[in-house]
Amino acid sequence: GKVLVTGANGYIAVWVVKTLLEQGFSVRGTVRSESKAVHLRKLFKSYGDHFEVVIVEDITKDGAFDEAVKGVDAIEHTASPFHFKAIEPDELIVPAVHGTTSVLKSAQKYGTSVKRVVITSSCAAVLTPSTEPRVFSESDWNEASIQEVKEKGRDAAGPAKYRASKTLAERAAWEFYEQNKGSLSWDLVVLNPPFVFGPAIHDVDIPDNLNESARDWFFNVVRGKLDNDALVNIGSSYVDVRDLALAHSLALQKPEAAGERIIVSAGPWKWQDFVSAAHRFDNRLPAGNKSYDPTKAVHLIQYSPDKERRILGIQFRSLEETTKDTIDDFKARGWL
Ligand code: NDP
Repeated sequence: GKVLVTGANGYIAVWVVKTLLEQGFSVRGTVRSESKAVHLRKLFKSYGDHFEVVIVEDITKDGAFDEAVKGVDAIEHTASPFHFKAIEPDELIVPAVHGTTSVLKSAQKYGTSVKRVVITSSCAAVLTPSTEPRVFSESDWNEASIQEVKEKGRDAAGPAKYRASKTLAERAAWEFYEQNKGSLSWDLVVLNPPFVFGPAIHDVDIPDNLNESARDWFFNVVRGKLDNDALVNIGSSYVDVRDLALAHSLALQKPEAAGERIIVSAGPWKWQDFVSAAHRFDNRLPAGNKSYDPTKAVHLIQYSPDKERRILGIQFRSLEETTKDTIDDFKARGWL
């Protein structure tokens, strides 16, 4: 079968494309401009005509994907802005929401062979920050960030603007699906990953151009950006980018995934966990907070693994493996 991957040049998407190609799928990737296709064409050259790139300049326009969806059997929609630098919330919300609905509308009109659409949402659309430990599941929605953006507009916190964009985009997808599913040839699956870490195979020249999760957090934290308190107090959950790519492939293939929202999380961490692991692999990297006892860590944000286990059943890479491979990648690039 042939799979359309939107935003194919992104950190997560390149791993999704690679995984699909390795599993025998053909892939059509969309990027915003010709220059963003160069690296991809080189990387996947050995797949010949099993891999192609098409340009979709503005994903927010109705009809943007009309041509791209023709003749594909499935769609993985990953394109969405992920950064905390937006001034106006709409800088994130408009492309997140309209990008999503425009893919779905094109798939409805011209995706006559499409059987399934998978959307990369986020745990940003699930969690509500809290000071009490909490286990979130697929029935939870992040209303708080939408509320914050409504009340504060451009003065809302950077993460709240991003989280609102992901929540509104996912909600728009489910609304479209519920309203139209009687007349669609496809069903919908949504994946909700927490922080995504692991080596990069997209086009990155310098650390500053790493994607948000790899740069601002991982790369800077293992080099000592956080103080001892922050290291043991700040945490969340993670998934390795390669496991998330596998989840995208399984989400296309598992019949039981139809109509499901699935959290794809390998487990919780505090920053010190990554710092300790990185230090074990390379003792030139800082040891961080030596008083940390991982067995006593209180994780405020955890995710229920039940649905993922039941439907996808991925054997997640350990935090050590993810850390080692990410450090090795940074070293191979001469950054560490
Ligand atoms: P990247 O920034 O590496 O990739 C984002 C992709 O989306 C790129 O292809 C980018 O294209 C495209 N994109 C961004 N803004 C626009 C826009 N306005 N119009 C068209 N295309 C756009 O990020 P990730 O790979 O990390 O993220 C991919 C997806 O995964 C996103 O939906 C993100 O929300 C989600 N996610 C990521 C997590 C993480 O920790 N990394 C965690 C949970 C979810 P271009 O290069 O042209 O800007």
